[in-house]
Amino acid sequence: MRKSSTSLDFNNFEKAYKHKTIAELVNALLVLRVCRVRKIVSNARYLVTLSYKILGETITNWILRKTFYKHFCGGIDEAEVKLTMNRLKKVNIGTVLDYAAEAEVEERHTVPGGGDVSQDKVSARIYRYEDEKNCDVNAEIALRAVTSSAQHESDGFAALKITALTKPELLEHMSLVIKETKALFSSLVSSKETEESKEKTLTLAEFSKSLKQLKFQISQEQINTIFKKINTSKTGAIKYDEWISYLEPTTLSMGVLSNFRNTPSLDEVSIGRVKNMFNRLEMIISCAQRNKVKLLIDAEQSYIQPAIDHLTLSLQRKYNKETPLIYTTIQGYLKNSHENCKTSLNLAKREGWVFACKLVRGAYLVHERARCQQFCYDCPVFSSVEETHKNYNDIALLLLSEYPRCKFMIASHNEDSALLICREMDKRNISKAEGGICFGQLLGMSDHITYNLSQAGYKAYKYVPYGPVKEVLPYLIRRAEENSGLLDSTTKEMSFIRKELYRRFRFW
Ligand SMILES: Cc1cc2nc3c(=O)[nH]c(=O)nc-3n(C[C@H](O)[C@H](O)[C@H](O)COP(=O)(O)OP(=O)(O)OC[C@H]3O[C@@H](n4cnc5c(N)ncnc54)[C@H](O)[C@@H]3O)c2cc1C
Repeated sequence: MRKSSTSLDFNNFEKAYKHKTIAELVNALLVLRVCRVRKIVSNARYLVTLSYKILGETITNWILRKTFYKHFCGGIDEAEVKLTMNRLKKVNIGTVLDYAAEAEVEERHTVPGGGDVSQDKVSARIYRYEDEKNCDVNAEIALRAVTSSAQHESDGFAALKITALTKPELLEHMSLVIKETKALFSSLVSSKETEESKEKTLTLAEFSKSLKQLKFQISQEQINTIFKKINTSKTGAIKYDEWISYLEPTTLSMGVLSNFRNTPSLDEVSIGRVKNMFNRLEMIISCAQRNKVKLLIDAEQSYIQPAIDHLTLSLQRKYNKETPLIYTTIQGYLKNSHENCKTSLNLAKREGWVFACKLVRGAYLVHERARCQQFCYDCPVFSSVEETHKNYNDIALLLLSEYPRCKFMIASHNEDSALLICREMDKRNISKAEGGICFGQLLGMSDHITYNLSQAGYKAYKYVPYGPVKEVLPYLIRRAEENSGLLDSTTKEMSFIRKELYRRFRFW
């Protein structure tokens, strides 16, 4: 039996399902069973379209609502979502509201930067940019999620994808600029001998010498002024995180230092779009701040993630002064995630704000690999699942070692990672109920983890997707695909549900 020193036991199916009706359990079993039939899952889109044609939209949507939708989604409108939230609240499970409506997912998707990459098995949503108006609509939806969350929870979360608020190609462009800025730092410190360039620092003399060696046309007076602006810690040596923070979040300007770039600067239209994105974000954040709802900024594909990280960091510095309002997301499958996490923790420590994050493994594995093959570059994702697991747990322990100065959510369906953190929390006498360290799973997945965590006193949340049935279809199909791939955990869940049904019928 898997037990921690507390009464936590993920195999306790009786506790896990005690709040579910027989009808809900039978439906869960049916849905998970269907997810195991590969032919149905891989042809799901076609089957739904066929059903729309033969049975009509009303009947098809009704069937979906009573089965898959009921299992994986919170409701079509606010009233229904409130019922789901209340049901979870009764068993001390919090809600992360996540509007799941999205454009129809196509079999092939155009990747920013050109080329087509199959979206098959991408287990997260990908927004398609239509226009700025559409981004405004998405921002309105996020605002409503924030206010709904506030009405129902004192300690609620709302999830947000940056690609809902702007053009992904713009984020890719910004990411290239950020990468080049990082590379320039490596070039500036390259004459020094310490191992990691991120650990290195630049004194004024070294900065001046390196800039001249790299043939920057810049006077000593200008160098002195820039050095002062960058070295905010006033230690006399520029650190990596100070360097990257010098990149202005909206325009990505570094003044005269911007001349080093190969990537062209953002044009007027793009700067306008970046400003729009910031305005939308600021609007959502001020609503979240008023309503005391924390915002989880989702992580997306690695080629747009540097831009998302950069702007999330700038928001954390501004809004997480006392309490953690903005949560960034760390993807443990990325090779550089541990190092990036350390850099952010150091920056937060030095500047005195609260670093907060959601730790996930990463949902774009197939997409990332296909793209690397297509454009011939080193894959940023670990090459084995074991490396991802190790890195995920190492980051979790790093975050734990910085607690309570940082807050985080273990967002995973992996029992070992959840147990590791629970045990460490017990060892270090960290309050379970305070919620600074919490756990998150998707609605309809790994209930044996969420419900057992909450009943053992840990703060557990469900990501609750919602929206009209037809618009949520791509989300439902992805969940079916994910469950058909997760053979071990789905088999385990099904066996627990069967045992619980058997236990109930035995007492009849
Ligand atoms: C509450 C919540 C929020 C989430 N938010 C995000 C988000 O913002 N961004 C995001 O990208 N994902 C997000 N996810 C999805 C998450 O990243 C995973 O895809 C999913 O949860 C499965 O990982 P796991 O830890 O639950 O389970 P596990 O089954 O233990 O691990 C599966 C994961 O391991 C990794 N993996 C599998 N095979 C390999 C391999 N061969 N090599 C390297 N790595 C491998 C992949 O990341 C895969 O998803 C979220 C998940 C949850 C529960």
